[in-house]
This record gives sequence, structure tokens and C-alpha cells, in this order.
Amino acid sequence: MLGLDLLYKEAIDNQANVINKCVVGKWASSMDDANLSAFTESLNDDDFSTRSLFSLYKNAGATFGLTSLREHRRGVCTCR
Ligand SMILES: [Zn+2]
Repeated sequence: MLGLDLLYKEAIDNQANVINKCVVGKWASSMDDANLSAFTESLNDDDFSTRSLFSLYKNAGATFGLTSLREHRRGVCTCR
């Protein structure tokens, strides 16, 4: 047996990090601090349209759609 109790606890912690988050929130939760602060700052930057942020994030490896980003930015997604 490979320490199922520990693996289970770890899985619960990981689950808690992504539960109630939309795909955009999940993507953000995988970032390191530097990327996360750039992400948060850009998201709140009114000089950027959601579409141009979408292109930016795509270049950074995002796989979600424009609609998901728009909802996340407006705060009408499932993120808490
Ligand atoms: Zn979200």
C-alpha cells in the first residue's frame, strides 16, 4: 500500500484549491506569484479589452474560451 491516506489528504487539498472555480480561475490558481499578480493586474486594467487580454493569455498558454474570460472578468463566473 502506497500511503493512500496521505495521497487522499493531498487530493483533498488540491480539490479545495480548484473547487468552485471556473476554467479561468483554475488557470490562475496554477500560476506562481509573479504571473498571478500580472494576471490580476491586467484583468483589472480597463485600457485592455477582454479580447486583447484573451490574445495575451493565449500566448501565455491559456486554453479557455473568450466567453469564459469575459464572464470571469465581469465576476459572473463560478469563482468564489
Ligand atoms: Zn472565474
